[in-house]
Amino acid sequence: PLTTADLIEEHRICVCVRKRPLNKKELAMKDLDVLTVPSKDVVMVHEPKQKVDLTRYLENQTFRFDYAFDDSTTNEMVYRFTARPLVETIFERGMATCFAYGQTGSGKTHTMGGDFSGKNQDCSKGIYALAARDVFLMLKKPNYKKLDLQVHATFFEIYSGKVFDLLNRKTKLRVLEDGKQQVQVVGLQEKDVKSGQQLQNLRADISQRPLISQPRRFQIILRRKGKMHGKFSLIDLAGNERGADTSSADRQTRLEGAEINKSLLALKECIRALGRNKPHTPFRASKLTQVLRDSFIGENSRTCMIATISPGMTSCENTLNTLRYANRVK
Ligand code: ADP
Ligand code: MG
Repeated sequence: PLTTADLIEEHRICVCVRKRPLNKKELAMKDLDVLTVPSKDVVMVHEPKQKVDLTRYLENQTFRFDYAFDDSTTNEMVYRFTARPLVETIFERGMATCFAYGQTGSGKTHTMGGDFSGKNQDCSKGIYALAARDVFLMLKKPNYKKLDLQVHATFFEIYSGKVFDLLNRKTKLRVLEDGKQQVQVVGLQEKDVKSGQQLQNLRADISQRPLISQPRRFQIILRRKGKMHGKFSLIDLAGNERGADTSSADRQTRLEGAEINKSLLALKECIRALGRNKPHTPFRASKLTQVLRDSFIGENSRTCMIATISPGMTSCENTLNTLRYANRVK
């Protein structure tokens, strides 16, 4: 089991993988578990233990990450090793980003947003809620209290390369770059919030609007006398298999797939550039990376990616794609 002593504080990029349990549907169709997490940083993709002849794309494959979380790991534990250190970053005037990346149904929303059906609110809080809780706890520490920081929140979505403000009736926003290469999302509403609960209520409120089940892009901004002190972007990415959906009969689906593909490639390149301290970061390649520009360029920027994977044999191909992508990010 992981302990807090395992926390590595230094690295700018942390890449983790999280396996979810087989779900009811998979169990009902007798899908088999092909993932094992043998240690705290390794995941193996292998043939199912039961004797079946499905060896087509199942060679044993081992991947190593900063952390590998098995299917018994709670959100709280995942949070502690991923986003929790980033909360400190924003109090120290840094920029932080935490992404969930993976196939649809692999647990991105479970990890980031938590179960927000109203049934299980307390037992499965996701990273959004846990980070918000800790931001307000940190504010009370004497060191930070004297800074008199204000907490602001934004919620936005990106579809087909366009940015929409969820706090402001899904208004379409313009993204501008000024002469100093600063990117600005013009008019993105920042709501000032006074407590973790208020932030949760805001999120619940947004979720109840038509066509939004879970806001998937959320930022916590710390301001001091109006000036940005730190910013934490929390992002539940689109299902990565959708980026491969280029053969769909539906034109809109194809276009959206191409856009997702583009933003996931751009994201990978930007994170890699951040890790290698490269002078050129290709953030212009997609709207997502453009909006997150200051998090990729800043001196004190840190990123954490949580790759979520489904354990079933039937998801194997997507799982391997996710693991290869995550592997390349480092
Ligand atoms: P995604 O957002 O990647 O499409 P979800 O987070 O919606 O996937 O997860 C799909 C289903 O699996 C949901 O019912 C969710 O509650 C469940 N699930 C995902 N991850 C876990 C986990 N680690 N433990 C238990 N259930 C999970
Ligand atoms: Mg989801």
